[in-house]
Amino acid sequence: MGYGRVHDTVAGITAELRPVAARLAGVVGAGRPDDTLAHDVGEVLLRGGRATAAVIAPTMQVLLDGLTDDFRDVPGWPRDDVVRGRGAAVAARVAEALTEASRAHTLMAQEQMQRAALAAVRAAEQERHRSEARFRALFNQAAAGIGIISMAGVVVDGNDTWSQQMGYAIEEMRGRAIPDLVTSGSEPIAMTRFNELIGGERDSFRLEFTHIRRDGQPYVLDLSVSRVHTGDEPDFLVGIAIDVTERKRLENQLWYESRHDPLTGLPNRTMFFEQLSAMLDAPDPSSVGVCYFDLDGFKSINDGLGHDVGDQLLAEVADRLRATLTARGTLLARLGGDEFGVITHGPPGVTPQTLARLVLAGLRTPFLIDDRELTVSASVGVVDSTTGGTDVQALMRAADISLYQAKARGRGRLEMHDPRAGAHHVARHTLATELAAALARDEFFVEYQPLVSLADNTIRRVEALLRWRHPVLGLVPPDRFIAVAEENGFIHSLGRWVLRTACEAAKDWHARFPTAGVGVNVNIAVGQLHDPELPAHVTATLADTGLPPELLYLELTESAVLGDTSGPVDALSVLAAAGVRLVIDDFGTGYSNLAHLTQLPISELKIPSSFLAAAQADSPAPHTPAHDKILPAIVSLAHSMGLRVTVEGVETAAQAELLRTLCCDTGQGWYFGAPVPAAQIDTLLEARSTSCWEQTPSAG
Ligand code: C2E
Ligand code: MG
Ligand code: MG
Repeated sequence: MGYGRVHDTVAGITAELRPVAARLAGVVGAGRPDDTLAHDVGEVLLRGGRATAAVIAPTMQVLLDGLTDDFRDVPGWPRDDVVRGRGAAVAARVAEALTEASRAHTLMAQEQMQRAALAAVRAAEQERHRSEARFRALFNQAAAGIGIISMAGVVVDGNDTWSQQMGYAIEEMRGRAIPDLVTSGSEPIAMTRFNELIGGERDSFRLEFTHIRRDGQPYVLDLSVSRVHTGDEPDFLVGIAIDVTERKRLENQLWYESRHDPLTGLPNRTMFFEQLSAMLDAPDPSSVGVCYFDLDGFKSINDGLGHDVGDQLLAEVADRLRATLTARGTLLARLGGDEFGVITHGPPGVTPQTLARLVLAGLRTPFLIDDRELTVSASVGVVDSTTGGTDVQALMRAADISLYQAKARGRGRLEMHDPRAGAHHVARHTLATELAAALARDEFFVEYQPLVSLADNTIRRVEALLRWRHPVLGLVPPDRFIAVAEENGFIHSLGRWVLRTACEAAKDWHARFPTAGVGVNVNIAVGQLHDPELPAHVTATLADTGLPPELLYLELTESAVLGDTSGPVDALSVLAAAGVRLVIDDFGTGYSNLAHLTQLPISELKIPSSFLAAAQADSPAPHTPAHDKILPAIVSLAHSMGLRVTVEGVETAAQAELLRTLCCDTGQGWYFGAPVPAAQIDTLLEARSTSCWEQTPSAG
């Protein structure tokens, strides 16, 4: 089908599918299952015979794009890659439903044909002359091949379609035995069944098989042959053959599409799990290994440089992984987002660790995308069935836990599954399902860490840092669950809770220590920033709690606001106009477009401790002459733009002294005070208001 026709068809079908769009939105947006959706979509596609593979994928794409346009701004609507993932799952189910429906249609057509042929034969017997013309018309014009064969296996008659399928003129076939006409290479099962029919072992058969025409052309035929009785004894055989080559091709293509990722061309999650189950179910599954990869920092590339760059990078990473792993007895799949999986069932000596190391080494060379050099690393969880068990879910959970440990221990590394560690760790998937209940059960709490003036050692603000006291796992750090909450959309509820809790605490300090002027910093996740209701929610929270807006500082991720895509500028302007201060957190770790910095209503940069370490001559961090210059350069750049600077991770007096000489404004870190419960901040502020409080840092 030409592009124009595909386009028209897609447009037409998309219009017809509008009534199911709301249900599709339910599935894709809220992840709500809808068992009959795929079937109903399949029915629409099948109507009017437009059910070609070329139509399904673009139709689903148009629908999903439409939904994304309509719902992107609705709170809780998941990220594009989640939408794409769920959409692909629906498309795969549509494909299956369609294949089912198409098979049913073929069967129905075949039965009708058979009935018509029989009726025609009977009619011919009874009123040969009168009905001859009618019979001939039906017989000749049938889209199915029809053959009438004697009980001795000799051709009596056949129609044009059958003659085309066989590659013989009908006159050549009449009087010849069927075995003489069957080309070698055709699947022999059809001949076996035919002989059984003639031998009286069966009355009929139906078969889908590959038939090779006289000229060598292969056909997939859906053939049914029955003995026809006019009296007690069978008189002849009637065979009906429908050409299902195109349907078969479509089925294969749909199967392929439902099991591959269109971006990278790699097998997808469905295929990965099918293959893994099959290997684990094999008689000797002892050597099945899994490597579970997640790219480090991919989110900041996606948020900062845009999804196009992110997509290109994923495709290149996939190519490189493929090249590294090809011919090593492995299956490489994209499991979603920036996650990849490798199954090894390979030759002895190829352990999953070996493969993981190869992959990590392979990724070390930077990627060149749009003339930009991008460096990525991956964290890998490695497990094999001897320690992780032969249950698919358990094995993947073990791989996921190991992957998380690799991330926690510094990224760009692999971690082997350690069965003893299992009790203390839990898969991200489990955390995701527990978040909502945890909020309801009051398991979250906020600690506050002072930001201290380097000029006079007074507490200027405190940063609200979220913690989760899990009933079984103990204290879960935010690095562990914030990303999970972002992935499943729970970050909106959680972020609102933190904002309210922090504003209430800050209002309390403000009421009791009005001269201290202590403000509160609240971290805002990327997902929250894209919530169109964020500004209204912030101003409402300020109004409810009575906290003056200028005491609230929102910490925004660098890549979310300073990326190549211009970011949510409007939301930032509304917030700034309301008097709220905006701060860039972890400045210098993302892919910033510094030109944007001057256009945004930002008042401060927070510099992570890595820059501090690099600036110290005696630090073990990689150190070149240029390193000492980065921190001073950032500080003076910020000051020249009228921005204040806070440096994080200040752990020693020497570091505090260095920051003082660099004229940084505020410092944060264990040297000035670790994150503590709100009550301890009370104590610090009380001490200051009764005596002339001077910071007496505890060595940290
Ligand atoms: P962040 O915003 O950069 O917070 C600073 C992190 O540095 C905190 O880690 C803090 O405990 C840690 N830290 C403080 N002083 C020192 C020090 O002297 N040395 C070292 N090495 N580390 C120090 P924490 O509490 O584990 O939080 C980690 C990250 O989780 C935060 O990084 C922030 O990005 C995120 N986070 C925390 N609370 C929230 C929240 O409520 N919402 C969102 N969206 N993110 C949050
Ligand atoms: Mg922060
Ligand atoms: Mg930070």
